[in-house]
Amino acid sequence: MKADRRARILATLGPASSSLEQIRALAQAGANVFRLNFSHGSHEDHAERHRLIRQVEQELGRPIGILMDLQGPKLRVGRIAGGKTTLTAGQAFRLDLDPAEGDAARANLPHPEIFAALEDGTDLLLDDGKLRLRVDRHGPDFAETTVLVGGPLSDRKGVNVPGVILPISPLTPKDRADLEFGLSLGVDWVALSFVQRPEDIVEARGLIGGRAWIMAKLEKPAAIEHLDAIVGQADGIMVARGDLGVELPPQRVPVLQQRIVRRARAAGKPVVVATQMLESMISAPVPTRAEASDVATAVYSGADAVMLSAESASGQYPVEAVTIMEHIIREVEADPSWRANLDATHSPAEANIPDAICCALRRVAGLLEPAATVAYTASGFSALRASRERPATPILALTPQPETARRLALAWGVRPVLFPEQLRESTEMIDRAAAAARQAGLAETGDTLIVIAGLPFGRSGSTNLLHIAQVS
Ligand code: PGA
Ligand code: MN
Repeated sequence: MKADRRARILATLGPASSSLEQIRALAQAGANVFRLNFSHGSHEDHAERHRLIRQVEQELGRPIGILMDLQGPKLRVGRIAGGKTTLTAGQAFRLDLDPAEGDAARANLPHPEIFAALEDGTDLLLDDGKLRLRVDRHGPDFAETTVLVGGPLSDRKGVNVPGVILPISPLTPKDRADLEFGLSLGVDWVALSFVQRPEDIVEARGLIGGRAWIMAKLEKPAAIEHLDAIVGQADGIMVARGDLGVELPPQRVPVLQQRIVRRARAAGKPVVVATQMLESMISAPVPTRAEASDVATAVYSGADAVMLSAESASGQYPVEAVTIMEHIIREVEADPSWRANLDATHSPAEANIPDAICCALRRVAGLLEPAATVAYTASGFSALRASRERPATPILALTPQPETARRLALAWGVRPVLFPEQLRESTEMIDRAAAAARQAGLAETGDTLIVIAGLPFGRSGSTNLLHIAQVS
């Protein structure tokens, strides 16, 4: 029986990975889903990458997911005279709405909503948290601050306001335009940056409808406070450690990573661990031991996917980074303590019929060690509930819908396959499941299979049947 990797790889595309050959090489090395990062690049760049991914998908004959990542309300200071100034700890510094170029005493901050939401005593972080300002006094159009941590400040550097819930939509006008564009291309997932409240996801869903699944990026302290409600609203979750580690002290990140992964797994929502996983591979062909260990930690904790950012988008070794990630995942998944960890962190199934079937699936898979589970799924819901159980078999998800197959490419242990046939009888269901498992290289004659499905066929979310079959 062929070993099937369970954790998935999400690779960001960028200037280092935009040709047909490069995208094909990343997919062959193990990338399951590609991220189009709308913080960078033009619509033409993304349209071309989208087209090439679909071409590679066709060539390789397996569904590949595409996630568009919206920039979100990334706050920035305005321009500085000469491009750059330096702030010194202890000095006063003013931020205001005046669009004039800044200097060592003041700078433009073109976001009235920040001034409205500030409180005296709040800290503002500039340039990925490298500079820290304490607000002494503020009004509707200014803030007077004391520099706590100084350093160089250049044009358009990012501003984070960790302690404050900003009354802003997570979708800027740029995001709305990007979103329509991405949906018109046919992306499978949309990632929302700087989500603060569950309402943010409701608002996005109003625009997206059912056209893509929605991933909430957790990178604000406010989002952590609303963790359960956000996990409840979103289709998937990203532990966005880059901005999270700016908004909160770095020692909080590993603790929150574990908590977020656990909550997302409990809810059965795919969860991605992102940012700096193999950071040194941007310019080196091998990772540090600490990075290898970081990827392994995410896999041991049962995360659905691990992500590469600059490593695959703009680094010198994109294919090597995916390859190393793939090797680390395989190594961890061959360790008996990986299974023990998954079991120890498993949350019980919910009291409904599809979960009862998936709970039984977990037990049967553990007892009989069958070659595979075959799940008939239309919307993808049943496959996700099966994945939630983290069973001991790979889950071959047969779906008639290409978009479902592509969305499921991110889910732990799910191998999506397009299956356009309409089933009528249960004997057909067993035969086709066995044939599909054989074709996928997951089973051969004599192997045991678990089949889960909903009767009557063709109704979504109605999983009510578990069948144990022998491949003949
Ligand atoms: P970004 O999101 O790469 O879009 O900033 C991920 C993160 O913040 O970790
Ligand atoms: Mn981010």
